[in-house]
Amino acid sequence: MNKPAALPRASVLITGAAQVLTCAADAPDLVGCIPGGEVALAGDTVLAVGSPHELRQRVALDGARVVPAHGGIVLPGFVDSHTHLVFAGSRVAEYSGRLRGESAAALAARGVPSGIRGTARLVREAGRRQLEDEARERLAHMLACGTTTVEAKSGYGLSTAQEIRILEVQAALAASQPVRVVSTLLAAHEFPEGVPREEYLREIVEDIIPVVARQRLAVFNDVYCDEGYYTVTESRRVLEAGLQHGLKAKIHTDAYSHIGGAALAAELRVVSADHLNHASDRDLAALRDAGVTGVVMPALDFAVAHPKPTPARRMLDLGLAVALATDMCPGCWLEAMSFVIQLACRHYAFRPEEALRAATLGGARALDLHERIGSLEPGKQADIAIFDLPSYEDLAYRFGRARARTVLRAGEVVHEGAAP
Ligand SMILES: [Zn+2]
Repeated sequence: MNKPAALPRASVLITGAAQVLTCAADAPDLVGCIPGGEVALAGDTVLAVGSPHELRQRVALDGARVVPAHGGIVLPGFVDSHTHLVFAGSRVAEYSGRLRGESAAALAARGVPSGIRGTARLVREAGRRQLEDEARERLAHMLACGTTTVEAKSGYGLSTAQEIRILEVQAALAASQPVRVVSTLLAAHEFPEGVPREEYLREIVEDIIPVVARQRLAVFNDVYCDEGYYTVTESRRVLEAGLQHGLKAKIHTDAYSHIGGAALAAELRVVSADHLNHASDRDLAALRDAGVTGVVMPALDFAVAHPKPTPARRMLDLGLAVALATDMCPGCWLEAMSFVIQLACRHYAFRPEEALRAATLGGARALDLHERIGSLEPGKQADIAIFDLPSYEDLAYRFGRARARTVLRAGEVVHEGAAP
């Protein structure tokens, strides 16, 4: 009997790693660290993970294409679960004006595009080609930095036609780019200028949500529930309308006030509640009990010098599932998840293990995709990043080295960096 022939055959072998980090759900060390480990793939799927000896017991490797890890670390591709990917231009004039001490009124008097409405104006003036080209360039950077799944929200449209245009750009990118793009409708990001509140709310509920659901342009429906944005009652109306049309719920809440958004999130059992700077322990416990994932974005707090940083350590201590995300947007221009990990560890007291897990499996949970991606386990999609670092702790330690050496999406090498 020819024993190896009976073993499942690998098409790709990733070998020569200092560490393989599985980030498996049941890993006692949270990251499933296997020193000197290897990963075998069959097509687009992870076939086996383990030591070289274990792997040879379980799979046939003859004929497998070798992807060398060159003494680096092999981990699940990052899952960036909160971005505003598609927008036009930038708000560097607003950011630098604020760094120079200019007030919002002074910036407005100079005609500097500011805030969500400022970007919405730039989006309205931009052609579809421009929107797509600019977002594609950001996506390419994200991929080169090891991110294989990006959630992207609309929200700079603020009208039926513009919101749909943004979601169509996201669909075009999802179809043409190697990064997986997961679309979220965020028509309720802000209220458009010059339109009565109730009129726009009715447009969201009666026009935008039904059309987006019918055309399958989004998986999620999101709302900005905070003082100065959508009230709890309005947010409930928006999210319930989405749920009725089959759009899963997400919420931006408690970023700048404490108006009850977290309680609403727990009651509606949204997939993720994002920001949560002002959430109380009671809110966090309710979210935990409702199975909600809390999305923490340390770079946004950094970009706005937030006076009340997210209570992310409390979230972890209370047992809430946590995801780390970039919040890539014109107010927080960040493509690299490694910087998020660095901020989370230094400013939010994450352990490196907690940060890496939150940037992979946690992100997948925030997108309800944790059965398919976010960890390196047999049967899961082979979305993998290889970094030229000797240990996963170096992700938290070596600031600014953001680019991956090699990135695989669904078993295909989609990015290869130059050797150092
Ligand atoms: Zn956001």
